[in-house]
Amino acid sequence: MYDVKGNIRQVLGDLPKDVQLVAISKYHPKEFIMEAYDEGQRVFGESHEQELREKHASLPDDIEWHFIGHLQTNKVKYIAPYISMIDAVDSLKLLREIDKQAKKNNRTIRVLLELHIAEEETKYGLTLEACRQLLEDGEWRLLKNVEICGLMMMASNVDDESQIRNEMMMASDFFDEIKEKYFSESDCFRERSWGMSHDYKIAIECHSTMVRIGTTIFGPRVY
Ligand SMILES: *Cc1c(COP(=O)(O)O)cnc(C)c1O
Repeated sequence: MYDVKGNIRQVLGDLPKDVQLVAISKYHPKEFIMEAYDEGQRVFGESHEQELREKHASLPDDIEWHFIGHLQTNKVKYIAPYISMIDAVDSLKLLREIDKQAKKNNRTIRVLLELHIAEEETKYGLTLEACRQLLEDGEWRLLKNVEICGLMMMASNVDDESQIRNEMMMASDFFDEIKEKYFSESDCFRERSWGMSHDYKIAIECHSTMVRIGTTIFGPRVY
């Protein structure tokens, strides 16, 4: 088996104290998660509701689960009772549904807004302009059972470090802009979630507070 414990230790050794590790366990078996758990890791990320449901039901209760993938509104109700953070909110419609389901469960759900900055064609994420508009529109202020805790993005999957750096710095500058404009009073709004296996060291230099690392810890995913 992959040396999950050793890999976790190595990754944690690379991270400054104020950068949190979300161990991305999608497609990996529960045994791998327990290896990381035994090493002290408590925060894990999954991207498929059904897979997460099964893992949540059978793994220790003190695991904090992040939903990191694209989330369909009709799936929110299944994860609302227990999810610790929804990392990739990219529409007001989804934000409304999370608020509604959180209320039903008598809790507040923490979320990140997902930015689309990478050059790649992906359907997901808010452009900076769309994100500004969502915040300017103001309806989010009425959604009392969601707490917007920061921003998330994925840089382009390229070898060119300067491009990755540019994209992450664009996200970081944007974070500063909206922190000042909309969230200066919010203690919660402080997360900058960028950095994956191949680019987390760059992300640390670009003000990331939360890296999402899968392959480096658990090995290649078998689909
Ligand atoms: C799978 C995934 C990751 C982890 O990617 P690795 O390259 O395995 O570290 C991070 N973020 C998101 C949104 C993902 O879907």
